[in-house]
Amino acid sequence: ALERKVLRNKTKELMEELTIQATTDQLTGLINRRSLMKILDNSLQKFHSEGSDFGLIGIDIDFFKKVNDTYGHSVGDTVLVEAAGCLKNNIRTEDFVGRMGGEEFLAIITNCTVEDVTSIADRVRKEVENLLIKVDDIEINITISGGTSHSSEKGSVDELINLADERLYIAKENGRNQ
Ligand code: GH3
Ligand code: MG
Ligand code: MG
Repeated sequence: ALERKVLRNKTKELMEELTIQATTDQLTGLINRRSLMKILDNSLQKFHSEGSDFGLIGIDIDFFKKVNDTYGHSVGDTVLVEAAGCLKNNIRTEDFVGRMGGEEFLAIITNCTVEDVTSIADRVRKEVENLLIKVDDIEINITISGGTSHSSEKGSVDELINLADERLYIAKENGRNQ
């Protein structure tokens, strides 16, 4: 009976570890793309059943390749970790931010108006602009561009992501850091 109990506990531990690994981005510790998509599906369901609005902010670091090219990939990794921390610190606890991949992030803002999403996005943008990242004796500043969308605008998760992406592209075209 004792052996079985030990085995049961070990299995539980492993299952928990597996869940964390499957939902977390290893480098930044943020939630990963898979988790983000799950949360978005739930948000859309809640929007249809209860009318609770939500918004998306697609975020991409500006000229990130230059950071890698100038300082190396490992410094680039540190910059990603610091940027991720800054994003996380500057959204409310009831909201979500995760890494979609590379230097791209997505925030999900709950119970919000179109104006809320826009102002949160711009606040986050300013915070990242003011963030001074120190790696050894190097100091690095970065900026981000973002695009938002709101549950009232489209009917599916894919369409909402695409809309935010289109606007992110416009922000890049118009000079970035916006
Ligand atoms: P833009 O302003 O148009 O977004 O320019 P950019 O340089 O940020 O965009 P681009 O897509 O050309 O470059 C993204 C770079 O991000 C290229 C890739 O090597 C780097 N990258 C992606 N994932 C990682 C990672 O995990 N670590 C590091 N250090 N670099 C990464
Ligand atoms: Mg990119
Ligand atoms: Mg980029």
